Amino acid sequence: MMEELIILKTIIDLNNNYYLKIINNANDLPIYIIDIENLKLINIVKKGRFLLKIDFNNLNKTKYKRLLKKLLFIKKIILKSKMEIGIQKDSKKLLGYVINYDENNKRQNDFILAINAIFYNTRYERYNYIYDTVCNYLDSYFYGKDLCDFPNNKCGEKRNTSSLTGCCHHFRIKCLGPLTKLVLCEYLKEDYTCGAKCISCKLFTCDYLEKKGIKFRIKDILLLNVFFNPLQKYFIKYMVFTPKDKIIKRLMIL
Ligand code: SF4
Ligand code: SF4
Repeated sequence: MMEELIILKTIIDLNNNYYLKIINNANDLPIYIIDIENLKLINIVKKGRFLLKIDFNNLNKTKYKRLLKKLLFIKKIILKSKMEIGIQKDSKKLLGYVINYDENNKRQNDFILAINAIFYNTRYERYNYIYDTVCNYLDSYFYGKDLCDFPNNKCGEKRNTSSLTGCCHHFRIKCLGPLTKLVLCEYLKEDYTCGAKCISCKLFTCDYLEKKGIKFRIKDILLLNVFFNPLQKYFIKYMVFTPKDKIIKRLMIL
């Protein structure tokens, strides 16, 4: 019988040279480790160093948002106080330990993505990362599935109309007179792909998709739900027909 080669993942690489170590039990962890469920600034200051423990066995998903917001707040203070974050190991920094991690669990992976977002150096970099990560998720959700059912260039929602461009068009007010006309989105490319990377368009689901059970709510997407305030969420939802740089610029001033 052939022996199976089992490669166990032991490290989760994050951006900015950070990484998390995956372990199976919590024995022999450094005494200065801080449990993400028990983040208290005073304890971190006393320990003089910041190293995280994330045990997914104890973490309830209903606590994710609160814990991540608290971690972001504490990380900002630590940065200002110049206290060391993680442990330098060669060219990388160990940010902490992850216990009982299941790499096939989407909720756990979303939580790790949010940890990654927190440890960006600037708000702009964090927003850029969140924006791209959510867009990639939405693109991969649709990839190869033809959920809009596009035979003969007519999507499911517009099947009984003359539209050949799905929902990539909008009404524009004519210069003269009260009438409006339907125009193609200026970012629609000749190959019918989008040149704008507009997150609001990617989040949009029409009645046709909703009847199929496909609907994206900002509150269900952890990265959007945790890191943006209600006004920012409003713009993320409604800034359709808008390129990425303009959307991020708007988010930065809110
Ligand atoms: S989201 Fe709806 S309207 Fe837009 S292309 Fe898909 S089926 Fe058509
Ligand atoms: S910005 Fe929106 S409407 Fe315009 S091409 Fe891209 S997806 Fe279509």
